[in-house]
Amino acid sequence: MMLRSLLAAALLALGGCAYPYTPPALSPVTAPAPPLAAREGAATTPVQRSIPAPVTILVSIDGFRPDYLERGVTPRLSALAASGVSASMRPSFPSKTFPNHWTLVTGFVPDRHGIVANRMEDEARPGETFTMATDDPFWWNVAEPLWVTAERAGIPTATMFWPGSNVAWGGTRDPAHPHADVGARPRDWQQYNEAVSDRQRVDAVLDWLRRPAATRPRLVTLYFDEVDTAGHEYGPADRRTLSAVATADASVGRLVDGLAALGQPANLVIVSDHGIAPIAPERRIAIDSIVAPTDARVVESGPYATFAPVPGRDAAVAEALLRPHPHMTCWRKEALPPRFRYGGNARVPAFLCLAEDGAAGGWILAKTATDEATHRGAHGYDNDSPDMRALFIANGPAFAAGQRLPTFDNTDVAPLLRDLLGLPAGAGLDGDDAPFRRVLRR
Ligand code: AMP
Ligand code: ZN
Ligand code: ZN
Repeated sequence: MMLRSLLAAALLALGGCAYPYTPPALSPVTAPAPPLAAREGAATTPVQRSIPAPVTILVSIDGFRPDYLERGVTPRLSALAASGVSASMRPSFPSKTFPNHWTLVTGFVPDRHGIVANRMEDEARPGETFTMATDDPFWWNVAEPLWVTAERAGIPTATMFWPGSNVAWGGTRDPAHPHADVGARPRDWQQYNEAVSDRQRVDAVLDWLRRPAATRPRLVTLYFDEVDTAGHEYGPADRRTLSAVATADASVGRLVDGLAALGQPANLVIVSDHGIAPIAPERRIAIDSIVAPTDARVVESGPYATFAPVPGRDAAVAEALLRPHPHMTCWRKEALPPRFRYGGNARVPAFLCLAEDGAAGGWILAKTATDEATHRGAHGYDNDSPDMRALFIANGPAFAAGQRLPTFDNTDVAPLLRDLLGLPAGAGLDGDDAPFRRVLRR
């Protein structure tokens, strides 16, 4: 049993190109041992076999607060953090799912990569609204995602869900043939479907890694949604949310165990897109009582709201919004605080109001007073709010053990991934690999 554990751990710890097995520098990644019988040729001479090159696996656990690691339900993630590199990461503004997932794989802030919100409009597409179901490349083409860069460099990629990974990147849509988009996608990808279980997601990744070396992906993404869903429904402190956290932890454990069983070394980069703040029905502001719906269209509402004034009503909207309001602050997009790095993109509506997010929880900007108020958690607040902090754990042969990093911006993750893949540093990105230089083993 002990020997099996050591072998499994050592296989995860090894890096470099395919090379003969050398006595293990023991990894602190302590995956439970796979049954030896399950590993081909493992019975007596596993040490004679060559070890595959490490795969880079980017895992996102949507809405995972870094302090969930301290609630006693994350044995696998906590072990990976303790034996690898960890940090509490600052998301980009707005602290929403699509903008931040696109930042993580491009290295640009949302204002520059064009996915400025989960829901948005563009003057070039009058009457159209981008939602999380939109896969028309028009919306996504501004910044190149990492899997496209990798594929162009000959690195096979595979995505087990990631916002934008189903988009024919760089292509254009012929409205007459919306299912025949031509563009670049990961070599393997899946159409997003919440009903696909965590187990199926992990097993799909492991199946890809069972392929012969020539077709085995070297960059993989994996996405889990249940922690965000529970966080919205019950709030971050609720035991049902912690139960979702425990499920995600077990899924990461399944991945680590599966990799060990395959003898596949991996550099795991496990992140979330943002945290989540507690909210309550008594902390709500009905924005239709501040701006008349006949004066502006509300494009988004929630922890922040955006307003597109009706032609000729800009001054009235400015008058209503740009004065002090309890529990929220409003700006013209051009006047947003520079630290948000937001408001320069044409897709950002003319006015933005941000609700307060403090120790007592967050306020919600609801479209109307009668808007449903069933949720107990929300995100989209100031990206520097402690409640919005995101998870970062890196573990594998490329990383030093037991290193805690100071908070960094999530624009730095794509440059790190480029390093792991051996890609050149991207030009003009909003982040760089500086936070990781002292913890990367070269
Ligand atoms: P948010 O509330 O901003 O955190 O958005 C989270 C929601 O995004 C989750 O309920 C997911 O089901 C959904 N989601 C995540 N990835 C995708 C995707 N690729 N396509 C459509 N919806 C997605
Ligand atoms: Zn999210
Ligand atoms: Zn969410």
